[in-house]
Amino acid sequence: MKKTKIAIFDLTGCEGCEFHLLSLNELLLDFFQDFEIINWRLLSEQKKADFDVAFIEGAVTTQEQIKLLKEIRETSKVVVALGACAISGNFFAELTPERRKIMVKKIYDKDYNLKAEFLAPVEKFIKVDAKIPGCPANIELLKNFLKQLREKKITSKAKEVSPPDFTAKIEGHGTLKVNFQKKEVDFEVEESERLVEGLVLGKSFKVAPFMTSRICGICPIAHNICSLSAIENALGIKLTEETILLRRLLLASQVIKSHLLHLFFLVLPDYAGVKGAIELSKKYPAEFHLMLNIKRITEKILQTVGGQVSFPNNTSIGGFRKVPSKDTLLAIKASIFEVLDEAEDLIKIFASIENPSLKSDLKQVYVKPLDVFSYPLYPGFFPEAVKEIIQKESPAKLGVLKDNQVIRVGALSRLANNSQYLKPQASKMFSKFKPDFQNPFSNNLAQSIEILHFLEESLEIIDTLTKKNLKRAKEVSNYNLPKENASGTAYLEAPRGILIHQIEIDSQGLIVNYKIIPPTQINLAALKKDAQLLVEQNKKFEEKEIKKALERLIRAFDPCITCAVH
Ligand code: SF4
Repeated sequence: MKKTKIAIFDLTGCEGCEFHLLSLNELLLDFFQDFEIINWRLLSEQKKADFDVAFIEGAVTTQEQIKLLKEIRETSKVVVALGACAISGNFFAELTPERRKIMVKKIYDKDYNLKAEFLAPVEKFIKVDAKIPGCPANIELLKNFLKQLREKKITSKAKEVSPPDFTAKIEGHGTLKVNFQKKEVDFEVEESERLVEGLVLGKSFKVAPFMTSRICGICPIAHNICSLSAIENALGIKLTEETILLRRLLLASQVIKSHLLHLFFLVLPDYAGVKGAIELSKKYPAEFHLMLNIKRITEKILQTVGGQVSFPNNTSIGGFRKVPSKDTLLAIKASIFEVLDEAEDLIKIFASIENPSLKSDLKQVYVKPLDVFSYPLYPGFFPEAVKEIIQKESPAKLGVLKDNQVIRVGALSRLANNSQYLKPQASKMFSKFKPDFQNPFSNNLAQSIEILHFLEESLEIIDTLTKKNLKRAKEVSNYNLPKENASGTAYLEAPRGILIHQIEIDSQGLIVNYKIIPPTQINLAALKKDAQLLVEQNKKFEEKEIKKALERLIRAFDPCITCAVH
């Protein structure tokens, strides 16, 4: 029997609703089995096609998106708005087109041309048949909706939609541009501005961790904790060891989960000779289950400590609203033990991949831990200043050092400088399968080694925490507002590298300035350099081969474009 054909489109949002869909774990495999997934840029190349049901994530910000929506409406029997951004525009819709023009001048340069002059819900342009509310879209409602879809076969008129030609299998929208005659390559960022740094202005500092975490659906914990830390630094709040350890546990889980999603859904299909993760899950079920087993543990930690699998709601100023019980932590510890060997197998998979050759000597930097004898994560500092470069034609700012030096951040940079701090099992695997630190493709192998390292580190953290008084990790409320404007900066290692949040608060507790420099802003400058090098160092190869290698290079950098354009 023919299956209902489903397409998933992402407009302007953090892609957290899509990543939340991937948290269906085993049910996701049923989803792949029960329906024919025709278009899903996050998981495979997009193609011209017709379909019966379309899920739309994100708000509408461009004329191209309106045109796409109208085509989608023409062919789909059912159009579903997935999550708050698609349904209402979320809090991003708070800025009117006039305010957007004012805010963009504050956040960018006065000569910068705003790409997205408006931000509106899907329903403003086409009829929507169903809505899955929530930020991210409520998983139980989504499950019920999929159950209903499964029970009745839906067919629609065949009319093909031409999706935009964005590079597939990356987080956010960007397009690879290669001019083979001139041997020039570029990666154009196609995301729309949501102006988060402007949206928080004039609001209480308390909203910043919530709002800034909505920049990214794959590393919201990193933004949330960085924002909390910037506030705490501005207000002079000192953290207890228990709070730091619980935050470190959360961040370690975020790194593991992000690396797993990147490696299995975005990278591995290229090397396994399949089009995408859907095919991968069917052809290599054992490997796919290995990934799901580890992912499930990280989700347990995110839920228990962070309050939710996606955006945390249990983190607070100075600590946590609710602290986990020691018994729950011990149960998690037991389940981590069970997957350590599987994490070793995962490293073997990525060590066996033959990477395209590339020799790049970019400086690799990381957040220096406050405790100098540990692997970089949190808390930490970055001793050099990162300068933002505004590109007139691109909504993504670039991050470089003060002297304009281009640097690389992320798993490979952390590992290149800190392998001596790897935990025992990860250290053993590292000695066996040492990545080539000059080849940015090795970032994939570095991520797989970090998965094992952070699992082992989570065990140690839980051991320490269970000997401590967890009540000391409770949030604090006895802090004073500053007498005059006060600023705070925080640095931590997000999955993709250095993340910086800076806040300025006035004596009423209102936000006067907010700046976010995410790792992809820094890595975009490095990616442009390394992509150019790849073309120059592989001139003898056919254009098709070079293009394929360039796409793999983009994925190896693990760019998060929604972070870069916030
Ligand atoms: Fe979905 Fe919330 Fe992200 Fe919007 S901000 S895409 S609703 S998770």
